[in-house]
Amino acid sequence: MITIEDHKLKDPDAKLKISYQETPNVSGPFNTGLPDTIVIHYTAGSSAASSAKWLQNPQAKASAHLVVGKKGEIIQLAPFNIRTWHAGASSWKGRSGLNQYSIGIEIDNAGILTQTAEGYMTNFSKLVPNKNVVLAKHKLDSAERGWEAYTAEQIEIVEEICLALVEIYGISEIVGHDDIAPSRKRDPGPAFPMESLRNRALFGRNEDVPDQPDELLDDAALVMADNLNIRSRPATSASLVSNPLPKGTKVRITQTKGGWSYVKADIEGWVSNQWLKTV
Ligand SMILES: [Zn+2]
Repeated sequence: MITIEDHKLKDPDAKLKISYQETPNVSGPFNTGLPDTIVIHYTAGSSAASSAKWLQNPQAKASAHLVVGKKGEIIQLAPFNIRTWHAGASSWKGRSGLNQYSIGIEIDNAGILTQTAEGYMTNFSKLVPNKNVVLAKHKLDSAERGWEAYTAEQIEIVEEICLALVEIYGISEIVGHDDIAPSRKRDPGPAFPMESLRNRALFGRNEDVPDQPDELLDDAALVMADNLNIRSRPATSASLVSNPLPKGTKVRITQTKGGWSYVKADIEGWVSNQWLKTV
């Protein structure tokens, strides 16, 4: 579970890996009533540690509040009441310079990949295994291309962080860097489930959802994540009902609700939709 104390992330259960490394690349406190927005980014870097290190370098002239690694580990670079430098020239709903209004979350992800004879390659010349390549068209582009997949751990922890930020700061907008700087930026891109994050973090949290399905479907599906958490209720804050379901597990979906599916295998419970493929 994630909480926020003194504008820093804390995990009272000490199960998450959260470290704090202060960046000098900041502009002092937000004005009263702010931040009210979260901006999601990918790093386009080779590791969370190297990206966090760069964002502490004065030469970078850039920073963010958080860097989220592929295993869900979190590096916080500045307290949430301090402005960081992640948005650059940007505008959204009549406001410009979104650093004044927003918390920046950088996710360790290579972003756009280049197709080569050997396969899809990152901007730092690393081949990405096909299972981690998402072929998709960005909403601002005309053609499909390859993107590095985000891990299930990243998507889940970013949602948990956003829920905590919404709770503490009254965040009312969650946007991508590509929403606020569309002429320059493509992050977090089509491999990241922005719509589901928005729905769940901003609009789904007070939804009164049943613990048990009340309307039966019967769809066969396969688990696509390496390890898919299965929970007692359709929320990331809900308890786990067993060990995660391994990739390739066959399940029956009996209900869907707000980005979640109630599935039955040897065990039953709620899992995140995006990691199921109907067959
Ligand atoms: Zn960005």
